[in-house]
Amino acid sequence: MANLFQSVRGFNDVLPPATAQWQHLHAVAAGILNGYGYGEIRLPIIEQLALFKRSIGEVTDIVEKEMFAFQDREGDMLALRPEGTAACVRAGLEHGLLHNQQQRLWYAGPMFRHERPQAGRYRQFHQLGVEAYGMAGPDIDVELIALSARLFRQLGLRDLTLELNSLGSGETRQNYRAALVAHLEKHLPSLDADSQRRLHSNPLRVLDSKSAQTQALLAEAPSILDFLDDESRAHFDGLRQGLDDLGIAYTVNPRLVRGLDYYSRGVFEWTTTQLGSQGTVCAGGRYDGLVQQLGGSPTPAVGWASGVERLILLLNAQAAALPDGAPQVYFCWLGETAQREARKLAESLRDRLPELRMVLHAGGGKLQAQLKRADKSGARLALILGDQEAAEKRIQVKSLRGNESQQQTLAWPELPAHLAGLLELSEKPT
Ligand code: ATP
Ligand code: MG
Repeated sequence: MANLFQSVRGFNDVLPPATAQWQHLHAVAAGILNGYGYGEIRLPIIEQLALFKRSIGEVTDIVEKEMFAFQDREGDMLALRPEGTAACVRAGLEHGLLHNQQQRLWYAGPMFRHERPQAGRYRQFHQLGVEAYGMAGPDIDVELIALSARLFRQLGLRDLTLELNSLGSGETRQNYRAALVAHLEKHLPSLDADSQRRLHSNPLRVLDSKSAQTQALLAEAPSILDFLDDESRAHFDGLRQGLDDLGIAYTVNPRLVRGLDYYSRGVFEWTTTQLGSQGTVCAGGRYDGLVQQLGGSPTPAVGWASGVERLILLLNAQAAALPDGAPQVYFCWLGETAQREARKLAESLRDRLPELRMVLHAGGGKLQAQLKRADKSGARLALILGDQEAAEKRIQVKSLRGNESQQQTLAWPELPAHLAGLLELSEKPT
């Protein structure tokens, strides 16, 4: 067993039964998103490197140090996608989905960033993302946030905080940038190295610095909210009004800027204190300039992305009730005739009870050993079919949980209704 291969650092396997939690999360999300009229878009994992440079911004953590970029055999510069929005806009433009149209889209899948792996931070991670195009008013921003709140509520997550800010228009940021640089220049030697470097190339990024000392200096920095133009202010007021109407609580954080350059106007994050410094579980905002920046006509756009690993960590930390995907029934058989009949009976049960989770024993062995496997599988019930029962078209149903002594013999035609009742499954007529 020497020299076993291991997965690459920061790239994780997800094993059963944990995968049942992922399936549950995606099923809940898909149900909600379909309910709001959002269509799923499936995008490639590899794009042109230039797409991310142009959209996310050259002077961002993602583009400067986190990209998995490579040259392929034809010499093209490609990258594993670090996020979904740029590719979504690229696809929308390529397929004519954005021009003079309204689109509500969502996607889910792996993203790649070369960061230092730790709990809640990986090199391959997964995002669930939502994007809306062609709608300028704050009503769609409100819808997107309401949708995320519903998702978290339906998953059973608690104690999440919503933070909001507005980045205003291009002019807002230009004026604010000047005021921020003037303030920070007074404290230049105390800034962390990254922030010193960014002070002139991309000063808003300094607000996002993870250095405690820099954050302390920012406490006295001017607030971007004092620089909003009238339209951005009206938009922000509309967003807040809409959230108030729906009873969605939030705090305004004028230092919230997000790690990507394409945002404008309203931006937001959902955070928790229960995941250490990886506390942001969902983040997004408006990016009205990006479609044009990528070659389309001016198109309002807003979206968010949520980290699936962090949602699952939080679900487990909060011990939310999650399905474990265990089978409900383990079907044991003894003898050659019984095996053949068990196989047919199991298939007919799957026809009648499409939701039934049932493992049909494979490989023979004594009843004791089969029941041990049944127990280990987590199943609630064991079905037991011997040659004698097969000849009489009967079967034993044994309870594996709670009162162990419960065991009864049923005629085959009684079995579907019996299981449907016990396991609360819907039954298809024959
Ligand atoms: P952070 O500040 O935590 O690095 P970010 O601002 O870089 O996050 P976004 O680009 O907005 O993150 O991505 C949206 C969400 O994706 C984040 O809020 C987070 O939940 C998740 N996420 C981002 N990077 C990672 C990662 N390396 N591993 C796991 N989840 C991640
Ligand atoms: Mg990051």
